Amino acid sequence: MAEPFTLSCGEACPFCGYAHVGEMEIPGCREQVRFCPKCEKLFEPEHRADPARQLCNNCAFRSGSGERADAWRWLNLLEDTVEQGRPFHCHKHLPATLQGDGYRFEAPKDHSELKVCAGWKAARAAFLAGRRLIDIYPPQESEGKADG
Ligand SMILES: [Zn+2]
Repeated sequence: MAEPFTLSCGEACPFCGYAHVGEMEIPGCREQVRFCPKCEKLFEPEHRADPARQLCNNCAFRSGSGERADAWRWLNLLEDTVEQGRPFHCHKHLPATLQGDGYRFEAPKDHSELKVCAGWKAARAAFLAGRRLIDIYPPQESEGKADG
């Protein structure tokens, strides 16, 4: 189960604007998440100055990501999204709710808020330039706590 959260981290809720958002540790998840006691949404904090160009701290395209540890799933993801030109979205600031021992992201109400994953954009550019994705983004062992 999730740990009790502590108020306040000085970050406003991206959904309702409530100013006293708390921090929450979820065992087994790599990221410390934020919890809004007013609208009861969870979200992952955004640390980047330029989310359109910078990979987030736990981007699937980073070395050692959980996604890349599962070779079959990763190669399918490269093929289905990057090669097919179907972007996926950064999970930062997507609304989430507690589920089981972790949390699950929800589709946001306002789709203009969605940011295309910066890692996806870089991979797509490499693919369109004729690079072999498996050379740049090979499957690999996860470096972090694996069970995220
Ligand atoms: Zn809120």
